[in-house]
Amino acid sequence: MSTWKVGDIKISQILEMPVEPGELDGLIEEATPEAVRSIAWLYPDYANDAGQTLWSLHAYVVETPSHRVLVDAGCGNHKTIPLLPNWGGLDNPFLERLEEAGYRTEDIDYVLATHLHLDHVGWHTTLVDGTWRPTFPNARYTFVTDEFEYHKSLAEGAPASSDLAHAVVYAGADPDIHSQTRLVFAESIQPCMDAGLVDLVPSGHQVTPGVRYTATPGHTKGHHSVRLESGDQSALITGDFIHHPIQIARPAWSSRGDSDRELSARTRTGFLRSVSGTDMLILGTHFSGPSGGHVVPDGDGYRFQPVHATA
Ligand SMILES: [Zn+2]
Repeated sequence: MSTWKVGDIKISQILEMPVEPGELDGLIEEATPEAVRSIAWLYPDYANDAGQTLWSLHAYVVETPSHRVLVDAGCGNHKTIPLLPNWGGLDNPFLERLEEAGYRTEDIDYVLATHLHLDHVGWHTTLVDGTWRPTFPNARYTFVTDEFEYHKSLAEGAPASSDLAHAVVYAGADPDIHSQTRLVFAESIQPCMDAGLVDLVPSGHQVTPGVRYTATPGHTKGHHSVRLESGDQSALITGDFIHHPIQIARPAWSSRGDSDRELSARTRTGFLRSVSGTDMLILGTHFSGPSGGHVVPDGDGYRFQPVHATA
């Protein structure tokens, strides 16, 4: 487990599982083995000798002087995920790792989601005696309204019975995305709504002092990163607008998972320009290896300079 300090804020990375090498090959189309091998700083943490990009599924706990905030919540255990079968029906010791980091499920005050894709909301609920229950009974599950409404409308657009056999991974235009979104809602979001734990908030909302949603659109229309500030220090939990560190070297390379690739590239390019050479700690949501670091200038572009645990 890695932890970082940003002023008075402590951030802990909680691993769900590493992604099998090769599983997400092609997600960033331009990231061919040759292209990956040409970017030396990706080795050894973010790429392997086969020229494959490496990925991770993890969450962050942000501990401020007043609150404990869970940001993005992986795939969860025992979920129904026909779109990505290897990520469904899992049985990972995520909650045990959370406890090892010093947090019981009752301790979490807020649960945030950069967006409502299946690999960011899974631990919102746990299967107890055949029923999905909110995992964090004392938390306010706080979502940005636009993002919530978009996925709700996707879920409601699902045909009554859908054949998921030919689902295409991450194909935003595939009609089966409706069925998968409906499953995500039913298993991971509706139980929290039924328990009265969900708050919908506007873009830019300050969740608690030092923790704020900031718009980074393109991966989804309502995608938001989580900005942390304490004193003169700051950090950003990316979500998927920087899906892999290779996009720091090549900001124009969008992901097949992006709903608007052009907007995603614009968001990334503008962001990297604004933080390059600053001490803002960037915390990647799917970055393998050291997932925290700084963006530094590198020729015409940028590279990621890992910052190992500081707390
Ligand atoms: Zn994701």
